[in-house]
Amino acid sequence: TAAETWTHVDEYFSVLVPEDVALVETRHAAAAGGLPDIAVAANQGKLLHLLAQSVGARRILEIGTLGGYSTLWLARALPSDGRLTTLEIDPEHARVATDSLTQAGVDDLVDVLVGPAADTLDSLVGEGAEPYDLVFIDADKQSIPRYLEQTLELTRPGSVVIVDNVVRGGAVVDAEHPDERVQGVRSMVELLTDHPRYDATVVQTVGSKGYDGFALLRVRD
Ligand code: SAM
Repeated sequence: TAAETWTHVDEYFSVLVPEDVALVETRHAAAAGGLPDIAVAANQGKLLHLLAQSVGARRILEIGTLGGYSTLWLARALPSDGRLTTLEIDPEHARVATDSLTQAGVDDLVDVLVGPAADTLDSLVGEGAEPYDLVFIDADKQSIPRYLEQTLELTRPGSVVIVDNVVRGGAVVDAEHPDERVQGVRSMVELLTDHPRYDATVVQTVGSKGYDGFALLRVRD
């Protein structure tokens, strides 16, 4: 099948994105803890890592921690005085992630903030948090438009935002689709159309995680 081919091709290229013990352990801890198998794949984690390095990110914001797998890829792109703030609603996910990030030795760089991300983002805005250089949005898809509005208060011109899972097996083209996650993505597209402050593109992807895609945004100058 096509899906088998996509997985084989990901496996073929996996030599370019080797996982060390800490990344493997982070995946295993999430599985052992009963967390859903919805983390990014290694090649996607590496893409986040390379993007963060490419923009020289010193401050990273992640919405949707799960077991900390993407968090670890991103944290490892930071300089030693960098900072990653990751938001997670589920205390058990946050606990598993915190353990793994501590094991991986990046706990000094990472804050895991537990609670509904919309509330935590409001708090960060209220505290006058310094702008983030890179934002990875990977939580409840129906809230993407809200998170993008809030992210504008927490970034600067040139900041990069990645939104994961915006293709959803192609379901996104169905205006009447009953899944609120699909509708969340469609509202994102409406929001981003001719947006005065975000510039954006969407890339469809296939691979071991199936058929999906991500949006790449840049806050305009
Ligand atoms: N970024 C992770 C990775 O690739 O390793 C995967 C994140 S998973 C797709 C989505 C996470 O968002 C889940 O852990 C879920 O509990 C969390 N989440 C869902 N709704 C949320 C909300 N309103 N606020 C914060 N986190 C939320």
